[in-house]
This record gives sequence, C-alpha cells and structure tokens, in this order.
Amino acid sequence: MTKITVAKGDGVGPEIMDATLSILQAAGAQLDIDEIEIGEKVYLSGNTTGISPDAWDKIRTNKIFLKAPITTPQGGGYKSLNVSTRKFLGLYANVRPCKSYHPFVKTKHPVVDMVIVRENEEDLYAGIEHQQTDEVVQCLKLISRPGCEKIIRYAFEYAKQYNRKKVTCFTKDNIMKQTDGLFHQVFEEIAAEYPEIENEHWIVDIGAAKVADTPEHFEVVVMPNLYGDVISDIAAQITGSVGLAGSSNIGEECAMFEAIHGSAPDIAGKNIANPSALMHGSLMMLNHIGQSLVAEKIHNAWLTTIEQGIHTADIYDEKTSKQKVGTQEFAAAVIANLSNKPSSFEPIQYGNRAALKLPTYQKKAPSLKELQGVDLFAHWNGTNPNEIAEKLKGIETKNTELVMITNRGIKVWPNGFKETFCTDHWRCRFQPATGDTFSKEEIIQLLQNAENQGLDIVKTENLYAFDGKRVYSLGQGQ
Ligand code: NAD
Repeated sequence: MTKITVAKGDGVGPEIMDATLSILQAAGAQLDIDEIEIGEKVYLSGNTTGISPDAWDKIRTNKIFLKAPITTPQGGGYKSLNVSTRKFLGLYANVRPCKSYHPFVKTKHPVVDMVIVRENEEDLYAGIEHQQTDEVVQCLKLISRPGCEKIIRYAFEYAKQYNRKKVTCFTKDNIMKQTDGLFHQVFEEIAAEYPEIENEHWIVDIGAAKVADTPEHFEVVVMPNLYGDVISDIAAQITGSVGLAGSSNIGEECAMFEAIHGSAPDIAGKNIANPSALMHGSLMMLNHIGQSLVAEKIHNAWLTTIEQGIHTADIYDEKTSKQKVGTQEFAAAVIANLSNKPSSFEPIQYGNRAALKLPTYQKKAPSLKELQGVDLFAHWNGTNPNEIAEKLKGIETKNTELVMITNRGIKVWPNGFKETFCTDHWRCRFQPATGDTFSKEEIIQLLQNAENQGLDIVKTENLYAFDGKRVYSLGQGQ
C-alpha cells in the first residue's frame, strides 16, 4: 500500500479525478489516499499561494502527489501553484509522453510517439523580473550546470529504460550563446556517455516546425523550460486532443503526476471532460511507485475502450467513433475492459518502469575567475548616443575607459547607425585600458562618479572570464 496525496482541483478537476480514482480502485491499485484542498477556494479565502502549510506537510511527507488541474485566479498577486509546487519540491523533470491513436482518434499525424522531457525549474520561469526604466522591463533567464546535467541525464536514462533509440535536444544557442549554449554543451557531454543512443540537436524554431509537420521523426526530446512548455502542448494537441496526455514531475525526493491540460472551466460540471489525461498521469505514478502490473492492466483496458470507439466529446468523430459518452460512462467502460487487451493496438507490456535513480550532481572544481570589466545600465531619456557617451566619459576612472554603448543589445557607440531605434535603457561597458588590471573597487568608483554626475544607473553586470575564456556577450556589431 502506498500513501499518496490527492488534490481534486478546480473546474473539471473533481470529475476527472473521481473517474480516474474509480479506475485505479477497480484495477486493484494499492493506494492509501490522503486528500488535500488546494486551488481556487484557498486562493479566494485570501491565501495568495493557493495552498495551506498543512497541505504542504502532507505533500512532503507522502512524497507522491496526484493532482487535478487548478484555476489560478487572474490578478490580485496570486502565485501559480503549479510553478511553486515544481520549484519548492525540486521537481526538475517534466515528462510528457504524446502519442496518437490512429485510426481511432482523428489526427493529422497518425504516427506520433514522442516524449518531451522539459526542464522544470529554471530558464525564464525563475520568475525574476524587473522594470528598470520608463520604457524597459526585463526577465532573467537563468540556466545552471546542475539544472542542465540533471534534466539531460534524466532524458538519456529515460530513453534507456523505455528502449528509445534517439534523444533530441532543442535550444536557440545560435542567439543565446551563454544560456542555451550551456544547455547544448552539456547535452553533447552527456550524450557521449550513452553511445548506444543516437543524439541530435535542432535549433528550436525549426525543431518546433518539424514537430508540427513530421512528429514521427522524434522519440525523446529534451529542452529548457519555456520551449518545453510550448512544444509539449503542440505535441499533445497534434495527437488529437489535449485531453489525452498526462505528465510526471520528478524530483530527487518527491514526484507529482497530473494531466497536461488546465481546469477547463468552459466544460466544468457537465460530465463531458475526458479523464484520459489525468488517468495517463496516474499510470506514470503507478509505474513510479512500482505498481506497473496494475498500470499495464489499466492501459490495455483504456486502449481497448478507445478501439471500441467509446469516446468522450473532445475526440468523438462521426466517422471513427461509435458511442459518445460522458466522463463517468467513459470510466465505467474502461473498468468493464479491465480484463481485456486491445486487438488493433499493440498491447502494453511495461516491464521495469520503476523510478529512475540518477546519481546526485557532483560539484565541479571552481574555475579561475577573472574580472575584466563592468556593464553599467543607465536610464537616460535622450536619444543621441554621442551625448550619453560624453557624460559617461566624465565618470571614467584612472584605470577604466568607456568602450561601448548598446541599446537593446545593438552597438550604438562608437560608430553606431543613426537609423537604430533607441529606448531609454543604455548598456555602457567599461573596461581597463590594455595591460591595466580591474577590480571591484573600480566599479564602486564608477558608481560613485555616476551618482555625483546625476547619471541614473539602474543595474550593474560584472564581466568575467572563466579559465581564460570570455563568458559575456559582445554587443551586436561590436
Ligand atoms: P485548458 O487546458 O483548461 O482548456 C483548453 C481547452 O481544452 C478548453 O476548450 C477545454 O474545454 C479543453 N479541454 C481541456 N481539458 C479537457 C478535457 N479533459 N476534456 C475535454 N476538453 C478539455 O486551458 P485554459 O482554458 O487556458 O486554462 C483554464 C485554467 O486552467 C486557467 O485558470 C489556467 O491557469 C489553468 N491551468 C491549470 C493547469 C494545471 O493545473 N496544471 C495547467 C494549465 C492551465
């Protein structure tokens, strides 16, 4: 018997959770259910996190969490409970299998069988955003080496366990050379440890187009958080319905299982939602806790039901379906098929699908870190780069000189184009003259001089070389 935390969520959540639990129970899953209340009611009671400390305690004690979708109320400073659960519990891997069920579920892509492995904790979802000037806001994209190593190793270990032959990586490292560049570099390093698994890298834009056009090309695809969020919805939708795909969120201690779709308030309370996505999430959970035989039985019963043409409204099609059913009737049909195996689809045989045990991240020896200069970001309302350059030359110290000004990343001084549009946000790079050393004292002096001159500096960014390699971007055109 495994104790699990269950949250029935909002919108269609309670209906699809009841349907899923009825199937799990009828199939003989050994589960002791500890229910918590999270989501809309908790938010609207004045708790902006959507979850009580008590509920957190249960989730952390039980470690396995089956969660129905929840509604995050608009505005009012409400924090997304999905994002905070993934981050607080260190659920670094979001695994989303997307498969088409042709010819029983209508799809433009009869052969989709791909698994998106999405990094779940960092990237632009670190949620570090600031407004710095009247015209410019920023969001920090954080990519860490441990984050990359953990998710990429997870993707290769997953491929090994599920007999997948290829792992693909998507990044945009032709533009983001440091952040996506690190993700791609770690992918190459870890891929080399798995010579039996084919590997490839695609730039994310053409990769996404390929997913939408030729999804049969892909098996396991690993990518940073934002790309994974977008592309896994595309991959799920092209199989026929977002109501089909489940997902797991895996951490070193805890794991959360859910549907990939939201709370679907437009169809809530009508007994028409498809419970299959949450049910698929629950099958991933059964595998994770070592109850693969029960998962296998349910999966085969579900495939049989789909083959029989017993379909909920989202996948019902006059040509391919036989009977349109509601949420509860669909669950009852799956339960009635629990002793059956599909005849058109290949019956499922899971074998060993227990939780993957990955080695813990080993910290690397620190690199030799050399400070080479500083970028000062100024809020200035003028439009002529030569004018701000004049002011900035006035704050140079004995050892530093102004070497470049960019506006939204484009070099505008020295020798900028008069056509370049400039906002009120100027990145001003100071570096020592050749041969001079540079220290943090210089930065303090530059800031003091700027303050004395009435220049509004809104942010500084140190420029480093690690082990002799420059690891900051040049201005475009520099
Ligand atoms: P949604 O996924 O809830 O709905 C999108 C469309 O898909 C709707 O037309 C809906 O009717 C349909 N749909 C979704 N699930 C279905 C199912 N099981 N069966 C049949 N049709 C289904 O996305 P949305 O409308 O953008 O978001 C609604 C709410 O859900 C928002 O408050 C959002 O914050 C929340 N949300 C929660 C989660 C989560 O809890 N993991 C994920 C995404 C969105």
